[in-house]
Amino acid sequence: MRILGIETSCDETSAAIVHGTPDAMTLESLVILSQDVHRLFGGVVPEIASRQHLTGIVPAVETALRDAQVEMPNVDAIAVTHAPGLVGALLVGTSYAKALGLAYGKPVVPVHHLEGHLFATLLEHGHAQPPFTALLVSGGHTLLLDVPAWGRYQLLGQTRDDAVGEAFDKVAKLLGLPYPGGRPVEQLAATAPSPSHGHPHQFPRPMLRRRAVISDDDYFDCSFSGLKTAVLHAVRHAEQAGDLEGQRASIARGFQDAVIETLVEKVYRAAKLRRRTRVVLGGGVACNGALQTAMRERFAGRGGEVFAPSPRLATDNAAMIAAAGLFRAMKGEHADPAMTATASLPIPGIFSGKF
Ligand code: ATP
Ligand code: MG
Ligand code: FE
Repeated sequence: MRILGIETSCDETSAAIVHGTPDAMTLESLVILSQDVHRLFGGVVPEIASRQHLTGIVPAVETALRDAQVEMPNVDAIAVTHAPGLVGALLVGTSYAKALGLAYGKPVVPVHHLEGHLFATLLEHGHAQPPFTALLVSGGHTLLLDVPAWGRYQLLGQTRDDAVGEAFDKVAKLLGLPYPGGRPVEQLAATAPSPSHGHPHQFPRPMLRRRAVISDDDYFDCSFSGLKTAVLHAVRHAEQAGDLEGQRASIARGFQDAVIETLVEKVYRAAKLRRRTRVVLGGGVACNGALQTAMRERFAGRGGEVFAPSPRLATDNAAMIAAAGLFRAMKGEHADPAMTATASLPIPGIFSGKF
């Protein structure tokens, strides 16, 4: 099956062509138009995002088709992000997908954006197949999942407050770095001296306490707002001392280390509980090199494999939507004509329950 993917949930207008089956997929083309204009505002402005999707959607799809050297009649289905996200932004994608489907007589497959993030790694690593432990860390979500099979997602833990990507973006702002802040924070942190000989910025590791009782939610949940506040105090302190410039890298490093140590521990606990040997990372923060390295080190020697997407596939893109759409399409899931955009919606097949 050959599928066209369309993603417009936030500030990336993206189209991609993916060919194959969920067991063996080939990415034939990927176009991502990132809306740089939001940098001027330090965050995504929904109204501007919708307008830019309107101008970008047609050239993005046409370029994806051309790059893959296919034409619409050779496409078997159209996958489109229908939730969650900015409604005005999502509507551009769903309306365009429905119109295209109608014009060419092709089925339209609605895809949940976060299920897309889970499939992203599969495009580069064919072995990133269930069963696995998944960590979804993006701008709006932080989810720890056990995935026994595609389409079945047990929610083990999540953030109580800020998403990890959101925390990176807020810390970036405090440190005077541009939006989105994940990569700039990672780059700045990399210039700090190694903390092995005593760290000048040792921030709290939230919710890392051990537990005796297995049903204690704290064991898998996380929280990042306290850490963000600790960073704020460190920045103020450095400013008062007139040495923010000298301490910025160390603060970035201290923040990133705290986030990574927390996430690695939570994922390790989840994998151990379900005896999973594979770990799949998804979402924009998943391309953080220090996070990937720490996760691999934790699982090395324990027979564990850690799969993570490259930056282009980790942040929002239509290839992951096409990949998840391929899985949904092969299950015969097609949109009815009333399909529309939804701001928030649980991942299909997600369940919680005692662990
Ligand atoms: P969601 O998927 O929850 O709807 P989103 O689509 O806005 O949110 P993504 O595109 O998946 O989020 O990820 C964007 C986030 O990833 C931003 O918060 C960004 O700062 C963060 N990010 C990107 N690269 C890195 C990196 N190298 N290190 C840490 N964070 C990063
Ligand atoms: Mg984005
Ligand atoms: Fe996303």
